Amino acid sequence: MNPIPYARHEITEADIEAVASVLRSEFLTQGPQVPAFEAALTRYTGARHAIAVNSATSALHIACLALGLGPGDWLWTSPVTFLASANCALYCGAQVDFVDIDPCTYNLSPDALSHKLEQAEREGKLPKVLVAVHMGGQSCDMKAMRLLSRRYGFKVIEDASHAVGGKYEDQPVGDCRYSDIAVFSFHPAKIVTAAEGGAALTNSDELASKMALLRSHGLTRDHQQMVHPIEGPWYYEQIELGFNYRMTDIHAALGTNQMKRVDDYVSRRQAVAKRYAELFAGLPLKTPRLDERAHSAFHLYVVRLDLARSRRNQRELFEFMRARGIGVNLHYIPIYRQPFYERMGFDRREFVEAESYYSQAMTLPMFPLLREEELRFVAATLAEGMGS
Ligand SMILES: *Cc1c(COP(=O)(O)O)cnc(C)c1O
Repeated sequence: MNPIPYARHEITEADIEAVASVLRSEFLTQGPQVPAFEAALTRYTGARHAIAVNSATSALHIACLALGLGPGDWLWTSPVTFLASANCALYCGAQVDFVDIDPCTYNLSPDALSHKLEQAEREGKLPKVLVAVHMGGQSCDMKAMRLLSRRYGFKVIEDASHAVGGKYEDQPVGDCRYSDIAVFSFHPAKIVTAAEGGAALTNSDELASKMALLRSHGLTRDHQQMVHPIEGPWYYEQIELGFNYRMTDIHAALGTNQMKRVDDYVSRRQAVAKRYAELFAGLPLKTPRLDERAHSAFHLYVVRLDLARSRRNQRELFEFMRARGIGVNLHYIPIYRQPFYERMGFDRREFVEAESYYSQAMTLPMFPLLREEELRFVAATLAEGMGS
C-alpha cells in the first residue's frame, strides 16, 4: 500500500490547460481571470460580492479591518482551529479570546458563547467580532450566532475555509445569510484549490468596497471614491492603508476550473465519510456527529478515540498509523496552547471541551480520490493499533 496522506488535491488536464492558457495570454495578474473567479463564487454561493485574495489568511485580515476591528477591541473565536482564525485579530492590534467547543460537532458552542457574552457584558468587555469556524466542513449553528450578534452588537465572520461546497439549512455556506462576511480558502488541502488563494464574501456593498481597497494598497481609480478632482488620465488616489493581497490570474483560472467540480468533490467526500462510519462500527471511537441542518463539505474526518479501551495511548497510536504510511494528523492543537498565545495568559482549565477533544482526536485521511481498499486499510490498521 502506498502512503496515504490526510489530504490530497486533484489536478485534471482541464486545470492544466486553464493555467497554461493564462500563461499564453496578455495578463498574468489584474486581468480578466480574477473577476471571472469571483463571479463563479457569487454564482455558486448566492452572496452579492466575492473579493478574491492570495490566501484565506489575507481574507480574514481585510475582513477584520473592514469591520473596523482595531486596538482596544476583542475578537472571539474557537480554540480548535487553524492559527489564522485568531492571528487576524492581532494583525489589527485587537485582542483575542476563545470560546469553548461543542463536544459533538467540535464547533464553537453557542451555549458557551451565550454564557461568556453574559459575563463579558457585565465586565464591559464584549467582543466586536466573532470568527465562527466551520470545523471540518460542518457549518456552525449560524442562526444561534446571528441571534446573539444582534443582541450583543458584535459582527460575525464565518471562517468557511473548510466548508466550500457545504450547506446550512439547505443553502450554500458563504451566502452570508447569518453573517457579515464569509471567508474561503483555496489551499491544496482544502476542498477546491487555486494552489494558494482565498476569498471574502459579503452581501454588503460597503464592506465589499472596503475589502477591495484593502486588497490592493488602498488605491482607487474610481472618481466617486476620490478626495480630490481627477488631475489627468494617470490619476489614482490612496485613500486607505491597504496591502498587496491580490490573487493572480494564474491562480484564479485554476480556482475557476476547480469550482466546476465542487459538488462532485463534496459528494465523494461524503461517501468516504459514510464508508468510514460503516467500517468503524464496533471500534472504540466516536465518528463525527452531523448536525441535521448542516451538509458538511468534509474537509476533515476527525474521530475521537476511546483510549481507555485502546491498547495504545494517543501518541503511540499516531506513531503506529504513521509507521504504516497513514498520514493521520491532529486538527488542531488548541491555539491557547501555542507558546505565542500562552504568553497572553490563557488558562487551559477554562476550555474543558477543547482540552478533552485534544486528548482524543485523530484526523484520518479524507479526500475524494480515496479508494475502497485504502479505506479498509485505514480501518483495519486503526483496529489493529487499538488492539480490538
Ligand atoms: C487553511 C485555513 C486557513 C488559512 O487558509 P490559507 O488560505 O492557507 O491562508 C484559515 N482558517 C482555517 C480554519 C483554515 O483551515
